[in-house]
Order: sequence, then structure tokens, then C-alpha cells
Amino acid sequence: QAPVLTIDGPGGAGKGTISRLVAERLGWHLLDSGALYRLTALAAGKHDVSLDDEASLAEVARHLEVVFVAEGGTTRVMLEGSDATTTIRTEQVGDAASRVAALPGVREALLSRQRDFRQFPGLVADGRDMGTVVFADAPLKIFLTASAEERAHRRQAQLREAGVDASLSSLLKEIQARDARDMQRSVAPLKPAEDAITLDTTRLTIPEVVDRLTELLTQ
Ligand code: C5P
Repeated sequence: QAPVLTIDGPGGAGKGTISRLVAERLGWHLLDSGALYRLTALAAGKHDVSLDDEASLAEVARHLEVVFVAEGGTTRVMLEGSDATTTIRTEQVGDAASRVAALPGVREALLSRQRDFRQFPGLVADGRDMGTVVFADAPLKIFLTASAEERAHRRQAQLREAGVDASLSSLLKEIQARDARDMQRSVAPLKPAEDAITLDTTRLTIPEVVDRLTELLTQ
């Protein structure tokens, strides 16, 4: 089986960027599992499926028609033939994603699709339950965290770059609400795997984290 590096942690800890850079450096495949939950939420909206109809949502997840197209440093996401790259990143879709992600039927429906990403020469898997559930046998598991305040700052800077002004206090509230929902759900709650290495990125730069992870992989 191909090797897997799992990178789990709360939203806004930098998992997306770090996972992409580590995968690039290693020449490995990348799984953005959060995108699958976001796409399930988006597809449900398109097909008028209610966010509490678990059986229908699981069907939507199982039959998700999605293609990830690598383009330079980014990945274009196509849902049922339409470009969904920016739509899945909105706050509204993120919120709906964390609701559908709390449903066991949806998580079960996405399992084999996620495991299919494990191919040679290797996979960097980014999410909440990569090390605890989906790739529980991964040889190296990282739990990436940063303080909620730092994550709110980073999110504010990101939004500012996109020309959006958001107050720090409202961002902090959103982050804390999302953390609570991800950690308190009964199925696959967000927590480090027992054999995970926790890395607090509050005071680290992106290149420092990438270096540290590549170092750990070669040890
Ligand atoms: O990481 P991202 O913000 O894209 O994930 C969106 C939502 O999907 C998260 O808030 C979380 O509830 C859910 N998710 C999950 N398990 C994963 C990845 C994401 O439950 N492996």
C-alpha cells in the first residue's frame, strides 16, 4: 500500500496550505477531504435535499459527480460539470458542510471515495478524521493546531486580501462555534489520533511548518 501522511486539525490552522505544499514537495497526491463535505452540502442544495434528510444526503454523497483538476499550484473543483472552486469556499457552504459532516450516513458514504486517493507514490490527507478513521493505519499522523485568536487573525488577513472586511470578534465567534460542532459531534469528533504528533503553528511560519513535516517524514 502507498504511504499516507495524515494532517488533521481545526479549521483555519493552515492545513490546506501546508498539505498542498508538503504534497508538492514530495510529489505525492493530495486529498482535501473537507472539499468532499462542502461538495455534498452544495450538491444537496442544488437538488433540493434538506440538510436533515440523512438518507438522501448519504445518497448525494455516494453519487457525488466530482472531478479535481490540478492547475499549476491550485486545484479546480468541478461538480456535475460546473466549476465549484470558489462556491465551495463560502462561509455558507462551510457551515452546511459541518452540518452534513455530523451525519454518520454521509461519513460512511464518503469513506471509500477518500480511500481511493491512496495511490503511489503516496498521499497527503487533509481533514478532521484522516488519522483517527479514514487512514487509521497511516505511518505518520500530524495534528495541526493554532490558537483560536491566531486563526481568526489569519482568516481576517485572507479575507482582506479578497477585499472583504470582517471584524475579529465575529470571526473568532464563528471559529469557536465551528470548533465546538466538530469536537462535540458523536461520530468522528475532531481529536488527535493516539499516535499523532501535535504541532502548534501559532508562532510558526508556513515554510517552518513544511520543513518540520518533511523532516519528520524522513526520520
Ligand atoms: O476543512 P474544511 O473547512 O473544508 O471542512 C468543512 C467541514 O467539513 C468542517 O467544518 C468539518 O465539519 C467537515 N469535515 C469533516 N471531516 C473531514 C473534513 C471536513 O467532518 N475529514
